Amino acid sequence: MQKDKPKALIVGTGLGGLSAAIRLLKEGYRVEMVEKYKQAGGRLNQIKKDGFSFDMAPTFFSMSYEFHDFIKECGIEPNIKFQELDPLYSVYFSHLKEPRIIYKNIEKLAEQFKDTEPLFSEKVHRYLDSAGQFYHDTEQLVIKKNFPNKLAYLLALTKVPMKHSPKLIRSFWDELSRYFVSEEVKQIFSLVAFFLGATPYNTPAVYTLLNYTELIHDGYWNIEGGMYKLVEELLKILAKEGVEIHYNTEIIGSESKGKQITGLIDKNGKRWDADLYVINSDAASFRGKILGRKLFSEKKLDKMKWTLAPLNIYLGIEGKLDDIYHHNYFLGNNFKEYASKIFLNQIGLEKPYYYVNVPTRHNPEMAPPGCESLFILVPVPDLRYKPDWTDKHVIVESIIKDLSERIGVDLKPRIKVQTILTPLDWERTFNLYKGSGLGLAHDLNQIGAFRPKNYDEKFRNLFYVGASTTPGTGLPMTLISSKLLIERIKEKNGFIHKKRV
Ligand SMILES: Cc1cc2nc3c(=O)[nH]c(=O)nc-3n(C[C@H](O)[C@H](O)[C@H](O)COP(=O)(O)OP(=O)(O)OC[C@H]3O[C@@H](n4cnc5c(N)ncnc54)[C@H](O)[C@@H]3O)c2cc1C
Repeated sequence: MQKDKPKALIVGTGLGGLSAAIRLLKEGYRVEMVEKYKQAGGRLNQIKKDGFSFDMAPTFFSMSYEFHDFIKECGIEPNIKFQELDPLYSVYFSHLKEPRIIYKNIEKLAEQFKDTEPLFSEKVHRYLDSAGQFYHDTEQLVIKKNFPNKLAYLLALTKVPMKHSPKLIRSFWDELSRYFVSEEVKQIFSLVAFFLGATPYNTPAVYTLLNYTELIHDGYWNIEGGMYKLVEELLKILAKEGVEIHYNTEIIGSESKGKQITGLIDKNGKRWDADLYVINSDAASFRGKILGRKLFSEKKLDKMKWTLAPLNIYLGIEGKLDDIYHHNYFLGNNFKEYASKIFLNQIGLEKPYYYVNVPTRHNPEMAPPGCESLFILVPVPDLRYKPDWTDKHVIVESIIKDLSERIGVDLKPRIKVQTILTPLDWERTFNLYKGSGLGLAHDLNQIGAFRPKNYDEKFRNLFYVGASTTPGTGLPMTLISSKLLIERIKEKNGFIHKKRV
């Protein structure tokens, strides 16, 4: 490392931290990183067991152009191949024998709904056109922008064409109901709302733009060899640049003088110093827990809206499951009741709604020959509503039974390896607040200038990157977040030196 360059310390090696590190190197910083977990990636992590590997959390991404932009902007050449997924996913309804297959090709998709949604093709084009217009009218104006304050953000919103304003008021579900009559179609398109932390009944219609990004603008993507390949490649680039990463190192305190942080303190009492500090840990709870900010006290954080907490089951299965796609959703027949009760722990988890990923469909190397890796994700109440997970084995057993019945394969005798992660594990492992899997929810009062800022309210050399600061959650947003971070540092500090990675 060249000592004459300013030093940045990054707390956390999620995609936010890793991409920030590469961008900061390019801007002339030397970078050092600390990470609580035993390996890099944050939620974009990997579990390996007896020849099986599993993507720990993200199993796909949309907006692949954000990845290409990041690679180009940083002048890096990671050895990764993006694979487009088509069909995008399948949806199993409990009242139907066969799943609905969600193709990107609208005519093929229309075939799936010819019995349930008259004029589907015409309707879906109108629906996606409207969502697409909203996306393109807001992308540069609101999503990919830093705002100096709330007023500037609200002023920017006034520049969004008036025709979109009903989308701010209407719910996702109501927007869908303007175009479609079929409950099936509406349920399928509204599944993305759950990623944002709420139900389609209380998620604003603005997020119908996600249907546009999945079906028209870009689609769903896998990384050949598994999602963790991205982390491995970024780590190689950082290692080449001499970036040191210290694992099993959790920051629990800070030292400051006036408006500067002078050091961060880890669990073993070691002090870490730098010229610039970037926090990839949750931007809200770091402010509360580590900096002791009253606005982010546990009481205040509990009142905020958080995204779903995940219960994950990773299964190594003997034998192939050829009839199951890469991504699959399993829904019951009480969608509205389920959606409104599940997050509040008001409904049993014996027959939940869940998502199943078969990474081996596209990445056969993720399991021994003749075997399959299976990842089940069940959105469950976060630890505010269900703090006790001693019943996890009973719940998991009933989910595996339900899945076996629905795919017509008895999975239990075929299980070779099994790992379970509850919201408690997610909280313990990555400091995810109350086990919330995707961080702060995306209600209108928790996005833009209303989301925890990417610069600190008090300390001038402290910044934030990742899913719980701007613009929001998901891998592409996290990459945008590191770009916004650099712009923010330049705006606040203005002393970054140029250097090629
Ligand atoms: C189950 C699940 C499924 C998901 N699926 C998808 C998907 O398919 N597609 C998609 O795009 N997104 C998905 N997401 C969301 C995506 O994973 C996140 O939005 C993204 O990975 C967040 O990256 P990040 O860098 O902001 O944070 P993180 O990945 O959480 O990284 C933060 C890092 O900081 C470390 N850290 C925290 N506190 C400290 C501390 N005090 N000291 C030191 N280190 C600390 C943590 O250990 C962690 O490594 C999923 C999330 C979950 C949980």
